[in-house]
Formats: sequence, C-alpha cells, structure tokens
Amino acid sequence: LAERIAFYDNHDEIATTMNMFNVMMDKVERSFQQQRQFVEDASHELRTPIAIVEGHLGMLHRWGKHDPAVLEESLQISIQELARLKALVEELLALTRAENLQMDEATAVCEPEQVILQTIKKVNVLHPAFIMERDLRELSGVRLAISVEHLEQILLILLDNAVKYSRERKRIAVQATVQKERVCLAIKDAGIGIPAKDLPFVTDRLYRVDKARNRKSGSAEGNGLGLSIAKRLVERYNGALSIESIEQEGTTVNVFLPIRAGVQ
Ligand code: ADP
Repeated sequence: LAERIAFYDNHDEIATTMNMFNVMMDKVERSFQQQRQFVEDASHELRTPIAIVEGHLGMLHRWGKHDPAVLEESLQISIQELARLKALVEELLALTRAENLQMDEATAVCEPEQVILQTIKKVNVLHPAFIMERDLRELSGVRLAISVEHLEQILLILLDNAVKYSRERKRIAVQATVQKERVCLAIKDAGIGIPAKDLPFVTDRLYRVDKARNRKSGSAEGNGLGLSIAKRLVERYNGALSIESIEQEGTTVNVFLPIRAGVQ
C-alpha cells in the first residue's frame, strides 16, 4: 500500500509539474504570437506611407513636369507621408528602447516638481488655448526613483494625448498625491474619453480606438504607440500606469512611481 501511495504521490507531482510546464509553454507561445503579430502590424504601418510616396513619385515622374497641380499635390502628400513615416520609426525605436531599458535602478533620481512644471510649460507654449491646472504641493521635497529624461518623456506622451483628444473643453489638470512609498501623478482631461470596450487595450502596441475618430482630432494622426511606451517606461521603474475614462467626459491617466528614499 505504501508503495502505491508513494506512486500516486509521485504521479501527482509529475502531473502538477507537467501542468505548470504546459501553462508556462502557453505563456511563451502567446508571447511569441504577440511578437509576431506586432512585427506584422508594424510592417503594415510602415508599408502604407511608403506605398503612398511611391505612387506620388510615379505621378511626379509622369506628369509633374507639365502639370503644376500634380506637382504641388504630390509633393505636399509625399512630404506629409514622409513626416508620418519618420515619426513612426522614431516611436518604434522609443518603444524598443523602453522595452530593453537597462537603467541603474539604484541611482535613478529626479525632483519631479520642477520636471513636471517645465514639461507643462513646454506643452502649453505649443497649445496656448489650453488651461493647464496643476496641484503639485505634495511634491515639495519629494524625490522619485526615475530619471529626469524618462519622467519628461512619459509626461509629454500623456499631455500630448490629453491635448489631442480634447475638443472644446480645453482644460487639463495635473495633480500629485503622495502615498506611502510612491507618488501618484494624475493627468486629467475633459476630452472625448475612451469607450469602455477599448479601455483594456489602449496600452497595447499600435492600438488606436478608431482611426476616423483620431483623424478628427485635427492634429497629426497618432500611431498607437504613445501609451505603450509610457506604460513600459513606468513599469521599468517599478511603477504602474492605470487609466480611467468616461466617453464624452474625459480621461484620467494615473502614473504611480516609487519615491527614492534616503537621498539628500
Ligand atoms: P496615439 O498615438 O494614437 O495617440 P496612444 O498609444 O497614445 O496612441 O493611445 C492609444 C489610443 O488611446 C489613441 O489612439 C486614442 O484613441 C486613445 N487615447 C489615448 N489617450 C487618450 C485620451 N487622453 N483621451 C481619449 N482617448 C485617448
């Protein structure tokens, strides 16, 4: 009997191990699948502007010398599409950098108050119609475990989105609250909001709520990489990013970052 119990115990152990192995392999498989899908989607995004420029160069070659209207239109569209291509390549590089970031966690430090104020100012200069409120009182004397450069990059992405997806209510608020060992930076807009069905996916790479809606935002069309870059950067510094949104009312992005303790 003892032998049989030992056998069953053993058997259970093997079954448990096999199960764990299968779960892990499923995860690996899913991650490969997601990576493949991303490369496919990114290639598609890159191919579109290239094909448009190619088409217009063909038109220029054939008719551009004799038809000033073709010359003007084709040049304009080509310049526009090349700018889109350049922005896309730069953001893809930023995403790869965020994913492979090798930073010295032990030393990354910044004084967030100044960085946030300066970044808000930069965005406000570009979009003077916006009222940018801020409540950073709790940040006085606080230091965060993140580099100045990356905090600024995250804020620029979130403020840029807040601007892009606002309509007539041009009001953005940045509020900082100190929690136990971390700080919460809330970037709040009164814009078009994100539909509940899309909310879980907006930090996925290349995810856009809907292209037509984005185009209506009047600014350069987004490419669905901003939030994924911001989220990955925040997570690299052991922080977290969460989004609350109500359609037609607005969006709040909360960025949680650890406080750097013991730095004078
Ligand atoms: P994009 O470059 O398209 O802005 P993001 O990754 O930054 O890419 O955002 C993904 C999508 O989430 C956007 O296409 C937009 O539809 C939606 N979104 C992001 N931020 C906001 C916001 N503040 N308000 C409304 N929608 C937003």
